[in-house]
Amino acid sequence: MEMIKRKEWGAIESGRRLSPFRIKPVGIVVHHTTGASQDPASRVRAHDRYHVKSLGWKSIGYNFLISGETGSIFEGRGWHQGAATRGQNYKTISLAYIGSGDELTDIGKQSFVKAVEGVRKKYGDHLWVKCHRDFAKTYCPADQLAAWVKQGMPLDVSVNPKRIDMYGVKQYFLDISRTLTRKPLKRGSRGKYVAMAQKQLNARLPVNLVVDGIFGRNTRKAVIRFQKQHPIADDGIIGPVTWRYLWTV
Ligand SMILES: [Zn+2]
Repeated sequence: MEMIKRKEWGAIESGRRLSPFRIKPVGIVVHHTTGASQDPASRVRAHDRYHVKSLGWKSIGYNFLISGETGSIFEGRGWHQGAATRGQNYKTISLAYIGSGDELTDIGKQSFVKAVEGVRKKYGDHLWVKCHRDFAKTYCPADQLAAWVKQGMPLDVSVNPKRIDMYGVKQYFLDISRTLTRKPLKRGSRGKYVAMAQKQLNARLPVNLVVDGIFGRNTRKAVIRFQKQHPIADDGIIGPVTWRYLWTV
C-alpha cells in the first residue's frame, strides 16, 4: 500500500517502542479524526501531537489516516498496535478519515477502499470492516462516513477499475513523463497535457480550474499548492516528478 511514511510527514518519535500485534488482526475499525481536513499533513501532525503530548500515548492512535482532500494515505502506527478503539486495539487495524467525516470526497473514498484492500492483503480477505460507534457510545465516525461503511463502501466510478488495462495506462503515463523531462509544463504552456493536469488538479485539490489546456496564473498557483503537500520542489512547474505525484501519491 502506498503511503506517506511517518518520517515523511514528521511524526514525533517518543522513543517508546510501538507494540507489535501478538495475534493477527481480525478486523478494521473506521474513525474520523474530527477537526479540519485541509492541509492533511499538518492535521496528522496536530493529531499526533495531541495523542503524544496531551494524552501521553506512544504515538498517534490510528494505524493509518486517509485524506479526502488529496487521497493520500498516512502511516500512523502502521502495522503496530494502535490506541484508537478501546478494547479492540490488540486485534484490529484502525483507519481514520481526516476531518469531520461528513465531507466524503470521491478520491477520499477511493483511498479508503485502497487502504482496506492493503490491510486485507496483509492479513487476509476475511477481515471485517466496522465503525468505531459499533464498539462504543460515540458519534465516531460521523453519519455520512458510517452510512457509507454500512453500505459496503461503494465507489461512484464510471469505469470499472478492474477493466482498465493497467499496463497500457502505465505505459501511457511513462511516455508523457519522458516528454515532460524534455519540455515541462509551465506558465504559458498549452495543450492536452495541460488540460489533463488541470483536470487532475481539480480532483486532487479543492480548486476549480477551467480545463482549457492553457497554463495560466491559477493553474500555476494550484500546482504550487499541490507541490507543497508533497515532498517535491514547489516551483509551479510540472516536470516528470510532479506529474507522477499527481496521478499516484
Ligand atoms: Zn473513533
